[in-house]
Amino acid sequence: MAVYIPEEKINDIKNAADIVDIISEVVVLKKSGKNFLGLCPFHSEKTPSFTVSSGKQIFYCFGCSAGGNVFSFLMKQEGISFPEAARMLARRYGIDIPVQTMSPEEKRRVSERESVLAINKQATDFFRCALLENTSGKTAMEYLLKRGISRKIVDDFKLGYAPEGWDNLAIYFSKKKQPDGLVEKSGLVIPRKGKSGFYDRFRSRIIFPIFDISMQIIGFGGRVLDDSLPKYLNSPETPVYNKSRSLYGLHMAKGKCRESKTVFIVEGYFDLLALHQHGIQNSVATLGTSLTPEHLQMLRGFIGKDGRVVLVYDSDSAGIKAAQRSIEVFDKGYVDAAIIVLPAGHDPDSYLLEFGTEPFMNLAAESKGVISFLIDCAVKKHGLSTEGKIHILSDIKVPLAAINDNVARSLYVKELAERIDVDEKAVLEKVRQVSAEKSSDIAKPAADYVLQNNGNRLERRIIAMMLQFPEVLSEVDNRGLLNLFEDNTLKSIGQSILKLKDSSGEPASELMAIVDDKDKRNIIASLVMKDDLWDRDGCLKLIAQFESSKYRNDKKLLQEIRDAEDRNDPELVLRLLKKKQLQVKKQNKIL
Ligand SMILES: [Zn+2]
Repeated sequence: MAVYIPEEKINDIKNAADIVDIISEVVVLKKSGKNFLGLCPFHSEKTPSFTVSSGKQIFYCFGCSAGGNVFSFLMKQEGISFPEAARMLARRYGIDIPVQTMSPEEKRRVSERESVLAINKQATDFFRCALLENTSGKTAMEYLLKRGISRKIVDDFKLGYAPEGWDNLAIYFSKKKQPDGLVEKSGLVIPRKGKSGFYDRFRSRIIFPIFDISMQIIGFGGRVLDDSLPKYLNSPETPVYNKSRSLYGLHMAKGKCRESKTVFIVEGYFDLLALHQHGIQNSVATLGTSLTPEHLQMLRGFIGKDGRVVLVYDSDSAGIKAAQRSIEVFDKGYVDAAIIVLPAGHDPDSYLLEFGTEPFMNLAAESKGVISFLIDCAVKKHGLSTEGKIHILSDIKVPLAAINDNVARSLYVKELAERIDVDEKAVLEKVRQVSAEKSSDIAKPAADYVLQNNGNRLERRIIAMMLQFPEVLSEVDNRGLLNLFEDNTLKSIGQSILKLKDSSGEPASELMAIVDDKDKRNIIASLVMKDDLWDRDGCLKLIAQFESSKYRNDKKLLQEIRDAEDRNDPELVLRLLKKKQLQVKKQNKIL
């Protein structure tokens, strides 16, 4: 049930929540001046431009302009609504939110997301029922047991069965009076081509509900019982399901991941279930996609930034491909990964079934880092003849060059040099060549480039002062400084700040959360994040400077009018006079 959250509770949450705390769970932040810097979770980058201000409780990415306060961060990161973000924070900080039933108006506002989650839950019940009760479910249950899945795992993971037939689920939802549009949004049904009505996406399949870390069902996977194709089918992207940000099993794995600071990553549903069943609960599966930076960032929230990631693959070639792909991903996430390649003919599921947990854990203990693994594979493939070494170097130079961390890279260069008995400098030279070719597309470092735009420098300083030293706001208001502004964008930002003067929160943070305009957000963030130190004297000096500059502008304008009159240019005179009038009006606060 959706709840209404009273204003004072929102304030409690604002006071309790720390944006650096919350963001650190998903982004590694490093102190930089008075702010924190990290790699943006909302776009792909190699040079950090994601900035978090602890003092102002805001974040801003100078690369993609994402920004806001702690609520906006959660809303964007988790794809949730404001009340959901508020509830999430309240839970985290132990703030009690009274449950009130919704008014009809609020009911209408219940987000699509919540409706889809409710539909997913109903569907899970339907699939469970079909697996446990129907006669047709019997075959499915037998199949699961035959694959070594215990009844406990079936229950823990709420496995289900989508029965044979085209519209069992569609009919179930229409009996439940769920609106067609919403059911369609859940991706569980597909509109029939050329006629009305819907048919079920999942038919005759074992169903794996996919949970998010708050235990909500966000999507489904389905596997056939025979050899028909496609073997696996997943929910499409929906308002609640984004596969590059979802990991199967994370809801069951997170505690153990935290404890062990290690996570095993496998590719399939059954592999994941096998690991859990064998007591290796700190494991997750990617769902029909390769590992993404978002995945890693989620995991890092549980294993910590120095935690261990172990990728489990069923063959050298799959491992090599994944290792090569993962380097860039890992490098972005500052996490090193190890790779296990299982003996030929085995996947994690069959390996554990045949050999059990201990040999698997031994493999994990001996598993090598991604680069060492690639070196091994290259040596195995090419041999250590002179020819072979040349091939090895050319295989490994690209992954080595992809490593951003200088220390890590030089360690691996050394390892490769020793392994194939080649001079370290020669290896380094190869890597440099690759880096030089790449360097043209290296992201430009975070810069407050907006500040380099023209615009009025003093007006920007005034806004910076207002954002960073809110004590001065009454002074700005009383003197009507904003009326003297020529830059309308800055002026409107200033007016918004003044409006927030008496609000309970930090003006900059409130502002970032409500300003939609990208350019304005960029200006605000650039100004807030600057390493300025303000005190009252400094502020008053700036105000005086600003006022006298306006006065100088007046004099300049008068001179221009006189010149135009001398030149006998009545059109220009008229234009300048209008400008003068406007200035006078502004100064008299008529505008
Ligand atoms: Zn960004």
